This record gives sequence, C-alpha cells and structure tokens, in this order.
Amino acid sequence: MGEFDLIAKYFVRPAGQGPRRAVVGNGDDCAVLAPAAGMQLAVSTDTLVEGRHFLSTVDPARLGHKALAVNLSDLAACGAKPLGFTLALTLPRVDEAWLAGFARGLLDLADEHDCELVGGDTTAGPLAIGVTVFGEVPAGGALLRSGARPGDELWVSGHPGEARLALEAFRGTLHPSLPAEAFDATRLAMECPEPRVALGLGLRGLATAAIDVSDGLLGDLGHILRRSGVSADVFAGALPLSPWLAARRRHEQLDCILAGGDDYELIFTAPPERRAAVEALGACLGLPLSRIGRMGRMDERMGEIAPATGGPPQSAPAGPRLRLWEGALAEVDAGADPGEGLGAPLANRWTSFDHFRPDLREAP
Ligand code: ADP
Ligand code: MG
Repeated sequence: MGEFDLIAKYFVRPAGQGPRRAVVGNGDDCAVLAPAAGMQLAVSTDTLVEGRHFLSTVDPARLGHKALAVNLSDLAACGAKPLGFTLALTLPRVDEAWLAGFARGLLDLADEHDCELVGGDTTAGPLAIGVTVFGEVPAGGALLRSGARPGDELWVSGHPGEARLALEAFRGTLHPSLPAEAFDATRLAMECPEPRVALGLGLRGLATAAIDVSDGLLGDLGHILRRSGVSADVFAGALPLSPWLAARRRHEQLDCILAGGDDYELIFTAPPERRAAVEALGACLGLPLSRIGRMGRMDERMGEIAPATGGPPQSAPAGPRLRLWEGALAEVDAGADPGEGLGAPLANRWTSFDHFRPDLREAP
C-alpha cells in the first residue's frame, strides 16, 4: 500500500461522514478554514514520540485518541472551540491493523468534538505523531496564562495524578503494587485522557487565567505565576483525591498530583465573587472542580532564598513564587493564618517534567 492509498483509506472521510468544518478540506495543497465572524483562530501543536510519550505496546486506538486529546486540551485551556486539525504521521511500516485502530481512536474523538481532519503529512521513519489543532475564540476572549490577579482563587478540574500512578505501575516502582481494578482505571486516564473542552468553553468570561496540566500541576501553575506576575498559596489538604490515589501513601499522592504530568486537567483562576458560578459550571458538566489555593501579590517576597553564607535574603531569580501548605483551604477561609494555623509550608521539591533535563526525565 502506497502513501496516497494509505491516506485515502484511513484519513480521508467518505462524503457525508465526519464533521465538515473547512471551506477546503483534505486533498488539496492547503486546507482553508473560515472562523465565524468576530472570532479569532487559536492554534496549537503537540507531537507524540514512541518511547518518550507512549509505550510501544499501547493500543493504537487509545494512541489515536490521545494524539488528538492532548491538542484539544490546549484549545480547552484557551477557551477555544475546536474547528479542525492536521496530522503529521511518521510510520516505520504500513501495518493496516495498527492504522485502522489508530484512525478509529483519532476520528471518534474528532467527531465527538466536531473537529475535522483537514490535512496532514505522511512519511516513513521512527513512529511519531504530530497534530496541529485549530479552534476559534471570540476576538480578545482567549483564556491566557497571564490574566491571574492577586486575590483570585485557584481551581483544578478532575483528579490529577492518576496518569502518573499508572506510569509508575508500568515501571514497577509501586510498593504495594496497584490492585487490578485501580491499574485498569488509572491506565485509562494515562492512555485515554478526556480533553476538558466543555469546561474551557464554560470558563470564557469566568476564569481570569487557565492552563492545561501536561507537565505537572505545580510546574504548570508556575507558568501562570510567571506570566501573570502573581504568587500562589496552594493547600495540600484541598487537593482532590481519586479513589485510586486515596488508597496510596501520602508522599505518593502528593508526588502524583503535584508533579505527575500527563493529566490534561485544567487549572484556572477566578475571583472569589465567581465561586458560585464556577461551582455551578462544574455541577452542570458533572466534573469535579476543586478550589485548591489563592493567588497573592509578588511583593510578598515569597521567592526569597536565604544564601548559605548568611547575609540578607536574595530574590530567587525566575522561580515561581509558590508556597505549599499542609492544611485545607477551608481552614484559611475560616480565618486561620496559613503561616500559623496550618503548620510549616511543605518543602517544594516538585519540579515539572522537562525533556532536556535527564536527571528529571529518569526520576522514578
Ligand atoms: P503536499 O505534497 O502538497 O504536501 P501530500 O502529497 O503530502 O501534499 O498530501 C496529499 C494530501 O493528503 C494533502 O491534502 C494532505 O493534507 C493530505 N494528507 C497527507 N497526509 C495526511 C494524513 N496523515 N492525514 C490526513 N491528511 C493527510
Ligand atoms: Mg502541496
């Protein structure tokens, strides 16, 4: 089977099948998209590489799903509505059973989100999947990392940490190991994440800043802090625990939730006056939304580090201004001072995933 037969068989939809969002779709030199009047295009790309982002044994349908899901997650974080996507596929060989599964997982999720596959590129080489998605947002209305303000509350959707728990189960680092039911459920979270597109749309006009959690909650929160120029207090006692994580030891829970990565949940900020509206949105979507912290001013000098040699504290250069507390946010709402009532801040030893830092990459 040649390149063009392969594309025609697996990636060009027969007439009348699948979403039609483009003016010119698959098959020409370019696709032509027309966002609705008053809308802007939101564009994002993510690549999945075998051995780095997925295990070679993964079910191809789940891989197809995930390749698009991680991209739709970026649209969700911007409050964008999906329109279409392109697929750059590098294949070591033509394996029709694999292609059929992959295309099914990919296109089922695309149909679910009314997102048309409008083109791509197909080459031979080590297995890699690049997807670029296009979505639309009202002009000037994209949710950005830069909009958080002191006093805003910090929220997270769903149950971050499950994907990392599954990854550690695969790696065999968990003692005791995961029961079969927990392994299947967390493996689904890792291999088949649900992009929070509806949440992102609902957060338009509600959230001040948002990001999707791909590299770990605290690391990705750091991007909001830097871009918004704010600090954050995060309360470990307020973090949502999935049933599977609830059964694990506390240090494992915190490792997975705070720095797990591959979650594709959204973290977002909103002023306290909108708390009820955020809760109503979560109830309407049937998606747990947890309030886990509060944003503060930068001039609280939280980034200070005491030099080992003594002398006055110095500002930490580019590090996020983040304090992590043992307690629950409810205690702070009730008037407890995090600095006194909730014990010493937890040492923040959680760093986010970075492909070019081998020390972190190999960390269990
Ligand atoms: P060009 O040479 O103009 O780049 P190609 O010959 O690579 O175009 O591709 C032919 C058509 O098939 C184009 O419309 C392209 O967008 C589409 N296409 C190629 N690979 C894929 C793929 N993996 N999925 C969807 N469409 C694809
Ligand atoms: Mg061309």
